[in-house]
Amino acid sequence: RTLNRERSRQLYDTAKDVIPGGVNSPARSWGAVGGNPLFLTRGSGSRVWDADGNEYIDYVCSWGPLILGHANESVVAAITQAAADGTSFGAPTERENEIAQLVVDAYESIEMVRFVNSGTEATMSALRLARAYTGRSKIVKFEGGYHGHSDALLVAAGSGALAHGVPDSAGVTASFAQDTLLGVFNDPASVEAHFDAFPEDIACVIVEPVAGNMGVVPPHDRFLQGLRDLTEKHNSLLIFDEVITGFRVEYGGAQQRYGINADITCLGKIIGGGMPVGAYGSSAEIMATVAPLGAMYQAGTLSGNPVAMAAGIATLEQLQEPGVYNALGAKAASLAAGLQEVFAEAEIPLRINRVSSMMTLFFNAGEVNSWETVLASDREGFGRFFHRMLEEGVYLPPSPFEAMFVSTAHSDAI
Ligand code: PMP
Repeated sequence: RTLNRERSRQLYDTAKDVIPGGVNSPARSWGAVGGNPLFLTRGSGSRVWDADGNEYIDYVCSWGPLILGHANESVVAAITQAAADGTSFGAPTERENEIAQLVVDAYESIEMVRFVNSGTEATMSALRLARAYTGRSKIVKFEGGYHGHSDALLVAAGSGALAHGVPDSAGVTASFAQDTLLGVFNDPASVEAHFDAFPEDIACVIVEPVAGNMGVVPPHDRFLQGLRDLTEKHNSLLIFDEVITGFRVEYGGAQQRYGINADITCLGKIIGGGMPVGAYGSSAEIMATVAPLGAMYQAGTLSGNPVAMAAGIATLEQLQEPGVYNALGAKAASLAAGLQEVFAEAEIPLRINRVSSMMTLFFNAGEVNSWETVLASDREGFGRFFHRMLEEGVYLPPSPFEAMFVSTAHSDAI
């Protein structure tokens, strides 16, 4: 069948006149798979509907936040109530205490947490905090790791492991990029080499503990512990960017799943329950560096917004119910097994990397455990698969190197 997507096409044409590329975030433009993006009008549970009324099973889930699916009843009720109470005050509200306590209770490594409005703000602020606390300037990030679009972190690929960073975006000056060192994911030795070269200068190592932005790549057994040991040895801070993995791979995120505590944790996505939220948290001692307690300035007119906090609280409360993560993992596992079987029958190489309810289908015959092996995947093959699935009523992330997400609202049948 061929779906009618005329209305989406028209809306996209109109959007392109007034919004760069027609989108407010580049991945939405389907650059990696070709074609015109769908304009979505409604979501309910595991389903979304486009502007032409076509229905899809959604495995994007807003790129991770919607772990309870679309328009979850309690979340919508909480948002509605909070909005009716007033959408913003720029003064403290009780809901901020409530969600902060939920985060502190979920993470052993977090004693205090500051709420911001996006994952980008969380990681940007976490870097500033690491630099302020240590008095050092350099940072280590990993090739293929995405931590939002702040200048120092838009340095990703191309260079060898020991090269100084080069900007990945126009407008990021060399002076910003030069303090960003690149490591190789799943290779602690690549980080050790940086510490050997700059033993006193590295403020922090920032990592997605489960890589999600080069497609899902789980950490090797010794990788995260290796980073923990190295940062401790050199009095540097370990930052886990858990914007995706927080409350996703376990209630207590990757830190609970792998039993390793970070010094600073970045959160986003799920803690906002579909509203724009980010957060960074750490020990009370390190957080004492943050204004108004300390000398590191960071602020936000809409930070801790009551409507957003309400959505986050309602989401986290439901995730505390017993068995949620087991059920999510099992559902994702059966989806992965089914897909693997179909691809095997069709004799198309497929490698599924999955950690709990986040996974990526790599069109790749070999193991995918690094940025290098990720890039060896068949992108055109994925593009064809993406469009075929769309015709069948399944909405996948429009890129071969993104994570797909299963929510509690997906049924066992799919
Ligand atoms: N860190 C990670 C690991 C992410 O996946 C993302 C966004 N996908 C960000 C940070 C940035 O978050 P935001 O898009 O909310 O700014």
